Amino acid sequence: MATLNKTRPSCARVKVEVDIMGEFPTRINVGMRKKTGEVVEKWVPIKYDYVPKYCKTCKLQGHNERECFVIHPELYPKEEKEVVVVAHGTKKR
Ligand SMILES: [Zn+2]
Repeated sequence: MATLNKTRPSCARVKVEVDIMGEFPTRINVGMRKKTGEVVEKWVPIKYDYVPKYCKTCKLQGHNERECFVIHPELYPKEEKEVVVVAHGTKKR
C-alpha cells in the first residue's frame, strides 16, 4: 500500500515463505503493466530484515554453520564455567 499511495514509493515490504534448507533469492522479477497494456519486467533486489540462524549440518535453529561446534570443534569452549550451587531449605528432610 505504501508504494501504491506513494508514501514510500521506493520500498515495498512483503512477507515471504522460503525453504530454509535452500538458498534465499537475492532478487525477484516483477512485471509491471503500463497503461498501454505493455508489460515491463524489472529485477528488484531483495533485502532481508531478519533471517533466523539455521545450521544445515545439525538441522537446528539458533546457530549457523560459521558458529557450529560440529563443523568447528575448535570453537567449543575449552574450560567449563564454574558452577556454584546454592542450596536452600536444606533443613527439611
Ligand atoms: Zn550446527
